[in-house]
Amino acid sequence: MILRIQPRSFTPYLAGALAVASLTSGCASAGADAATAGIGGAATTPQSAGVAAPRPGAAGIGDRVHPGLGNGGYDVRRYGLALRFTHDLSAYTATTTLTARARQALSRFDLDLNGPRVRSVTVDGRRAAWSTSGQELRVTPRRPLPAGREFTVRVTVRGTVATPRQARRLGTSAVGLIRAQGFVQSINQPSGAHRIAALADHPAQKAPATITITAPSKVNSIANGRLTGTRHAGGSTTRRFTSGEKLAPELIQIGLGRFSVVHRRGPGGIHLRYAVPTGKRKALMPQIDRVVPSAIGWFTRRLGPFPLRTYGIYATPLGGELETQSLTLLATSELTKSGMRHNGSDSIVTHEISHEYFGNSVSPRRWRDLWLNEGHAVYYESLWSAAKHGSDAAKRFKSAYQDSGAQLRRQGPVAAPRPGAFKPRSMAPYGFGAYQGGALTLYALRQKVGAATFQRIERAWVSEHRNNTAGTGDYIRLASRVSGQNLRPFLRSWLYSTKLPSMPGHPNWKVKETK
Ligand SMILES: [Zn+2]
Repeated sequence: MILRIQPRSFTPYLAGALAVASLTSGCASAGADAATAGIGGAATTPQSAGVAAPRPGAAGIGDRVHPGLGNGGYDVRRYGLALRFTHDLSAYTATTTLTARARQALSRFDLDLNGPRVRSVTVDGRRAAWSTSGQELRVTPRRPLPAGREFTVRVTVRGTVATPRQARRLGTSAVGLIRAQGFVQSINQPSGAHRIAALADHPAQKAPATITITAPSKVNSIANGRLTGTRHAGGSTTRRFTSGEKLAPELIQIGLGRFSVVHRRGPGGIHLRYAVPTGKRKALMPQIDRVVPSAIGWFTRRLGPFPLRTYGIYATPLGGELETQSLTLLATSELTKSGMRHNGSDSIVTHEISHEYFGNSVSPRRWRDLWLNEGHAVYYESLWSAAKHGSDAAKRFKSAYQDSGAQLRRQGPVAAPRPGAFKPRSMAPYGFGAYQGGALTLYALRQKVGAATFQRIERAWVSEHRNNTAGTGDYIRLASRVSGQNLRPFLRSWLYSTKLPSMPGHPNWKVKETK
């Protein structure tokens, strides 16, 4: 994601986009929180000697920034998400099929769900009791699930696609599905995915996924991953998309609209596919063809093999500048010839492509580790601008360093953000610390260990944690091991302080003192 710098804070791109989006009228409320419940067989919890008694899985995965996100008691093995849209694309039913393994004996477990109405819940094919409480869907299987058991929970919900006006009313950029100017797209970071369907909405619960979209044949559809099936029936078309790589719910993209999908062969044989509004294909493709393969090649040379075999862009009038996995969401205005020149959009494209390594392939274990996504994206975006446009990366880092005092005092250290300081709180920890603070930490590390060692650290990071999750402690340990020096005190002084240490090689850089 890209954040716009404001004098006092950072604003997600979408907030600006929504402010200028031509609004379509709509009056349905985008979600209700009323507690509801379904009837099913109530679970019994037999006690037997020597076996831990079944108990409820935790409501959250244990993330201090977003305590409600994710769920305890089970590991997700696979996601299936099947969406069927109404004729006007304003509403849908979504069936989540989640295959998981119980980490403990479970009397009950949760999924995350915020807004859509539950129609049915089954566990291993049998109706299960359920209730909702806030953003939790509590599922009680007929019989407790023993520890180690693999099980499948299927939840069907009915939801609405938000209009920009409804999305603005939510007061967050994590809106789930949104419909503007005839195009449906999703904006999930960090917690919008469970506005779409029942999911375990935390990057640490990512899993391979299949997304199936059924919609009127007059519109096209696209989602993360490879197209692995198409079926036409009765005026509707169903397309199935498969992500062999693990996919975090926050990175789900669902696209619908009058767009064409343009296919290309990219560096190393990567399959590139771009979903662009049909009328804008000629205006957008020259820039896309110029920047995307070049950026993928640039990253591959620095970091090693690209994490995906399929990659592309979904360009919409609203956009959102979001690294939805294998299908970056961008605004058409960023991709026109003049837009690219005025906005420096090739840097934006590069920022998002970097996330396929940092954030998507190597996902944060907890949300406080977001600097490993955004710090890297800002760092490499700065290097790209320097290489391609001659901009001065050190000057950019110096400016961020000078501003760091006030920003970090307000929102907390780079790797220890204070969620209450973010407005809206739902967007924590998207702020200065994760973006500029993270990039400064990486620049400081490179200054300390030298460019060649730093590159070895980076290549090891994306290779050893590929298609997995990792946190700040993992990065510190890996950097120390690869460099052959104990970098723990050095990196911790950058990551856990609101007053940054002096920048190696730039003793004259000073943090601005502000009241
Ligand atoms: Zn980003």
